[in-house]
Amino acid sequence: ETLDKGLEKSKTSFFGKLGKAVAGKSKVDDDVLDNLEEVLVASDVGVNTTLKIIKGIEARVAKDKYVGTDELNEILREEIARLLSETNSGEDVEFTIPKDKKPYVIMVVGVNGVGKTTTIGKLAYQFKKQGYKVVLGAGDTFRAAAIDQLQIWADRVGVPIIKQQMGSDPASVAFDTLSSAVKSDADVVIIDTAGRLHNKINLMNELSKVSRVMQKVVPDTPNDVLLVLDGSTGQNAFEQAKQFTKATNVTSLAVTKLDGTAKGGVVIGISDQFKIPVRYIGVGEGIEDLQVFNKYEFVDSFFS
Ligand code: GDP
Repeated sequence: ETLDKGLEKSKTSFFGKLGKAVAGKSKVDDDVLDNLEEVLVASDVGVNTTLKIIKGIEARVAKDKYVGTDELNEILREEIARLLSETNSGEDVEFTIPKDKKPYVIMVVGVNGVGKTTTIGKLAYQFKKQGYKVVLGAGDTFRAAAIDQLQIWADRVGVPIIKQQMGSDPASVAFDTLSSAVKSDADVVIIDTAGRLHNKINLMNELSKVSRVMQKVVPDTPNDVLLVLDGSTGQNAFEQAKQFTKATNVTSLAVTKLDGTAKGGVVIGISDQFKIPVRYIGVGEGIEDLQVFNKYEFVDSFFS
């Protein structure tokens, strides 16, 4: 029910607009489709993904000859589920750490303010609750506040954190963190990184240096590069995804702050445009308010 609450604003806004888009119409025709297109774009699904959805519905209308507006919800739900399925594979209900990868290293990237630290804290809490031994690495050495905030989360969750002083080399922090994780036989390492995007080359160099140094301690790490995006920023989140996927090999996404926004459609658009699975969604500020993204639950919650 946290998911339902988290998506409430997006739902209210979307169905309010959708209601207006089909008002007085019993049949899905070009007019309705034009209006629907506007509604989807206004809900931050993104233009390309919107066009795909509209095309899918058009094809359906062409095939069935008559489609009533009362069927629109169901058709939309199917189209969106199909799109999400292209990127988010089947059994993504619970994320479990592969047994042969120990420690499993998650490098977390994203610009400041998107909820990176909070997401790391919530994640650490989830993993710990599942019985995994977790170590955090304070790799955002650019801001003192980032190190302090992560320390607060480490204390709150009760997991160790490896840190150095502000201004130190993030790669050195990563090295220390992995070494400590190996020594203490930890299962999961979550490493924060600096979220500076103003210089793409710098970002690329920094992230690849961090990865290179990690590999000296544990081969083939990071196992996961998790990009955190603030869902409430709509099109900015798209732009950030574009920049970060150019700078590094992003393997999964966390979309935060869905609870405070009507822009929940970004989850659909971003997953479709970047072909990277959404693994987590943030639906509140609390320690429990991070959910493993499940496309079925997401669509069900949205259309129920
Ligand atoms: P960072 O700079 O990216 O590390 O961002 P923080 O983790 O410090 O988060 C910035 C603000 O966003 C904080 O006030 C968090 O409590 C808040 N925040 C993070 N995730 C969520 C979320 O899913 N929902 C809501 N409502 N707030 C969030």
